[in-house]
Amino acid sequence: MATNMALINQLMDQHSLTHDQWTQLLATYTPEDQQAAADIARDLTIQHFGKQIFFRGIVEFTNYCRNDCFYCGIRHGNRQVERYRLTKDEILACCEDGYQNGFRTFVLQGGEDPYFTEDIFADIIATIRKRYPDCAITLSIGEGTTAAYQKYYDAGADRFLLRHESATPALYQRWHPAYQHFEHRMACLENLKAIGFQTGCGFMVGGPYQTAANLADDMVYITKFKPAMIGIGPYVPHSQTPFRDFPAGNEDLTLFILSLCRILFPKVLLPATTALGTVQGDGRQLGVLAGCNVVMPNLSPLRFRKQYLLYDNKAGINDDAATGIQKLSDQMTAIGYTVVKSRGDYRP
Ligand code: SAM
Repeated sequence: MATNMALINQLMDQHSLTHDQWTQLLATYTPEDQQAAADIARDLTIQHFGKQIFFRGIVEFTNYCRNDCFYCGIRHGNRQVERYRLTKDEILACCEDGYQNGFRTFVLQGGEDPYFTEDIFADIIATIRKRYPDCAITLSIGEGTTAAYQKYYDAGADRFLLRHESATPALYQRWHPAYQHFEHRMACLENLKAIGFQTGCGFMVGGPYQTAANLADDMVYITKFKPAMIGIGPYVPHSQTPFRDFPAGNEDLTLFILSLCRILFPKVLLPATTALGTVQGDGRQLGVLAGCNVVMPNLSPLRFRKQYLLYDNKAGINDDAATGIQKLSDQMTAIGYTVVKSRGDYRP
């Protein structure tokens, strides 16, 4: 059996491991393996991007959601959450705020809210595209039809983040009600890529019932899918979900997986997520030191932040846009990185 260090070297040379090798690595890694992977990943990131971190501004424009993911705080079945949706003008005001603060990527994220029909949403995208021709528009709005995705692309959206959540069909079904289908989510990812979006997939680490073999499925899937972006964060419990009693995912395992993703895809856009910053205060700095090259501060109006809680104790909910940006910027400076507010497109 190869040592874990031999597997990390193989990953660097061949950009692929077998399912068994992934399982071994993820089940038996030591702090030394984690450190070695982080060192390689950080060097690769600096080689391709310099010590520069891309900033994206997230606008959480609705917390209405027709889905009922068992882990998510804004799931349809959570009757305690107060629902909100931003008007078009409010979304545009968030973008303007972001633009004035130097952002050149806007990420529109929300629950799957039926109010935003294809036409309403395409109109919002087209308006942002017209107003900010030098900015990238990223969507994170869940599953949709190919026709809707095409319409959003034609209206001017450039990128789409759709975490696959789990590449193990049985685990996916344990995390979601029967009407949410693994095959549909995976098909959406294929469709997004075929349309031409810079497409991101991703998953939670340490979610309920998840094993090293499940995570190996994720890594094998990602290897084949070749995403432009990968969104990975620890599972964090939310007190108003069926999974409330499961513990949060392990931070070290999350960081190790981020490093392995960087080694697998040296040029991928890899965010240090808010969930990582939630399980540990300096989580996003550790993420950057493990190979991440993107952070995504919140541009949503302060008054709605507490209503977009995917999990408990979410980082940054009391900071207005400018304060949040400044804090993250300072965190990056403190570890010797600079924040670049350019579009930061994926360059294969
Ligand atoms: N509705 C869109 C979708 O399905 O892609 C975007 C919003 S959804 C809330 C964004 C991501 O939040 C999900 O893909 C999921 O991985 C993550 N998420 C939800 N609940 C979480 C939790 N309890 N802990 C960590 N991440 C969570």
